[in-house]
Amino acid sequence: MINHKKKLLYLLCLVFFSGTGCSQEDQYTMQRKNMVSRQIKARGIKDRAILEALEKVPRHRFIPGYLWDKAYWDGPLPIGYGQTISQPYIVAYMTALLEPEKSDKVLEIGTGSGYQAAILAEIVDSVFTVEIVDELAIKVKKKLEELGYKNIWVKSGDGFFGWEEHAPFDKIIVTAAAEEIPPLLFEQLKEGGKMILPVGPEFGTQYLILVEKKDGKIKKHNKLAVRFVPFTREEE
Ligand code: SAH
Repeated sequence: MINHKKKLLYLLCLVFFSGTGCSQEDQYTMQRKNMVSRQIKARGIKDRAILEALEKVPRHRFIPGYLWDKAYWDGPLPIGYGQTISQPYIVAYMTALLEPEKSDKVLEIGTGSGYQAAILAEIVDSVFTVEIVDELAIKVKKKLEELGYKNIWVKSGDGFFGWEEHAPFDKIIVTAAAEEIPPLLFEQLKEGGKMILPVGPEFGTQYLILVEKKDGKIKKHNKLAVRFVPFTREEE
């Protein structure tokens, strides 16, 4: 019943977009529903848990205020410090390739806005995320606290080294493009685990690569041509 009322309210909001009775948050909820049906489901993502996470997580809260009206469009957005939040479809696609499960412990390299970490945290047991830009790591910690996430741990540092204390991980996701697969990340992946990452030069063709660890050996599958910000290294 309540659900029906909510649906009706969304519909009314849709017709009278800025009409009375629709809070700003209702409008964002509606925009998220549209985003999921037009950008995510329409392109073949079916995993219910992923679709629900995308409908739930307020993407606008992860970007600067002046961009909130563009929060649910079909592309990446700047988040300051020369970095970007990925296109929603890419977030969904990479998450789907990891086949996340409730009991998973996940490592993310490249926290950025914290949005990908939040999506994962809705689905899996725990998320450990590493960000090389100190200012971003500090901002994200505050943001995730505000939003009530209790299963995400943020560390500022060079993700090339992974997060040894919490290894091994069931899944690893890297959201900055490295020229090669960082070897320590593969080491910190559990047997049978999966890792998804963009690989390629900063200004050339990068591919999303799905890595699996089988009998300690690496299995790679090229998935999709992409464009990510570069994987940078901390100076010695
Ligand atoms: N997952 C992010 C996307 C962030 S863009 C999101 O949902 O918003 C990629 C991020 O990777 C940037 O914030 C960049 O600073 C970070 N990054 C680049 N090289 C890194 C490294 N070696 N270790 C950790 N983070 C790195």
